[in-house]
Amino acid sequence: MLNLLSPQTPDKIIGLMQAFRADPRTDKIDLGVGVYRDDEGRTRVLRAVKAAEERLWRSQDTKGYVGIEGDPAFLDAMRGLVLGGSVAPERVAAVATPGGTAAVRIALDLVRLANPKTRVFVPDPSWPNHAAIIGFVGLERVDYRYYDAVGRTLDMAGLLADLERTGPGDVVILHGCCHNPTGADLSARDWAEVGKVLARTGALVMVDLAYQGFGAGIEADAAGLRALAASLPEMLVAVSCSKNFGLYRERVAAILAVSADAATAGLVRGNLSNLNRQTYAFPPDHGARVVTEILGDAALCDQWMVELDSMRFRMQELRTALAETLRDISGSDRFAYLAGQRGMFSLLGASPVQVAKMRDEKGVYVIGDSRMNVAGLTEANIPRVAEAMLAAGL
Ligand code: PMP
Repeated sequence: MLNLLSPQTPDKIIGLMQAFRADPRTDKIDLGVGVYRDDEGRTRVLRAVKAAEERLWRSQDTKGYVGIEGDPAFLDAMRGLVLGGSVAPERVAAVATPGGTAAVRIALDLVRLANPKTRVFVPDPSWPNHAAIIGFVGLERVDYRYYDAVGRTLDMAGLLADLERTGPGDVVILHGCCHNPTGADLSARDWAEVGKVLARTGALVMVDLAYQGFGAGIEADAAGLRALAASLPEMLVAVSCSKNFGLYRERVAAILAVSADAATAGLVRGNLSNLNRQTYAFPPDHGARVVTEILGDAALCDQWMVELDSMRFRMQELRTALAETLRDISGSDRFAYLAGQRGMFSLLGASPVQVAKMRDEKGVYVIGDSRMNVAGLTEANIPRVAEAMLAAGL
């Protein structure tokens, strides 16, 4: 029977990681996979995480199962971190999931249970797993305009025009901040505009929040989705702690589902709980407990904020430094957009041939759609990255 399986196309990013490892050049530069790196190219455990783990090691006396929904203290902490005071707590149903990927998957399973005919509107471009998961759970995908690749900005007019075509049975995926892969985010006014359109069409918003704190700060990065949560009757949020707590492999995330009233929230909680049970029964606990420990302790939380700020500042500085180096070498301002975009990613606007040229001739690795991980830059490698981009004809 197993021979009946169809071959699957391997994940492009993992393929690229393997190619990078196999490349014997010592001066190769990895701007591919979406993992934060420090100036030495390392993805270190945050000090706040180490301290929280030490406390847990001392105090934890059981590894017995936790509830199907995850630890309630973790879910409360995530609700506070993400939604702030924008929604009454009784309207929110939450479950923990193994990473943001599972949060997206379970949230879409929930949508399918509610309405298998749902069309899911996805920004073009988006994190490729959105399309993959939507297809896998059997929902219809509709791409909406998001990015103006020529102007290197958000295509707000296109976005609004496309979202006008949504209706009450539809879901609209929005990136909470630090849009992957473009780095082009909605302004506060843009969020309000989107809110007005969706309030009119009745589509359900699903926010994918994987980089809170990487854009403009913890509070600022949640402001857009909080404004929507305060004004719309329902909303889903898939929030990941992989990046902002550096807990990638621990798989820490949650779904926050906002309903119109407490009774519906109870219904949603029962369904989310059931989906967790069918899929993995109990979500992982260690990383979630680390996050809860950090958010629940003023000193640890301050330490985490300082570390998070320093990751964000570093990425902003690298963006500015690359844009300035490119301006100096090329004598043109056409790369200024890199400094204005947010988070870990930007699209370089390179064709597949140019991407291959950067890799083969200069050892600079970016993803095939020309997505660059800004955190892979260092002060030392920026001139070489800039030269590789210009030599490839950008
Ligand atoms: N959403 C987006 C937009 C992402 O970029 C990522 C990470 N690449 C995720 C969700 C999920 O990340 P994880 O499963 O590692 O928490």
